Amino acid sequence: MAEHNENLWAPWRLEYIRGLADKDNDGCFLCRYAAAPDLDGKNQVIWRGPTCLTVFNQFPYNNGHLLIAPLAHQADLEALDDACLDELIRTIRDAKRLLKETTSAHGFNVGMNFGRCAGAGLPGHLHVHIVPRWDGDTNFMAVVGNARVISQSIEALLKQMRNAAVTLGLPPVRG
Ligand SMILES: [Zn+2]
Repeated sequence: MAEHNENLWAPWRLEYIRGLADKDNDGCFLCRYAAAPDLDGKNQVIWRGPTCLTVFNQFPYNNGHLLIAPLAHQADLEALDDACLDELIRTIRDAKRLLKETTSAHGFNVGMNFGRCAGAGLPGHLHVHIVPRWDGDTNFMAVVGNARVISQSIEALLKQMRNAAVTLGLPPVRG
């Protein structure tokens, strides 16, 4: 059981271990995405609201692992105004609904990490992880071990998401 709990909160660890988030030092990748709406397709941005952005995690723990972040480079919740906080939580609700519809997930992990000691891979720009979970999915290394498989499944999932967003009356999927 303890081992499962360890796995449960592994997503940020991949970013941290690979150190890619930090190598990208002309701003964090979330800021680059935020500044380039024209590249939303390439960057696999799902949604872009007035204050928040929803993207696929480049280092997914599971198929459908999304990140929701403020457009602004802010490290702490205290720095966000109420409009942004409202949008953040509403986007979590919508993303969870979209993923539930398109991935038939049995459950979700939704979480945030603040500070390197807490495992944040990108501590300067807060983001919420949404990770779909399926019964018996704890052995995930086979999935994350092959980036090609993941990126193909993201394309397929994006297609499903575009259709599902329309059906569910959610904001249109951009990426
Ligand atoms: Zn940033």
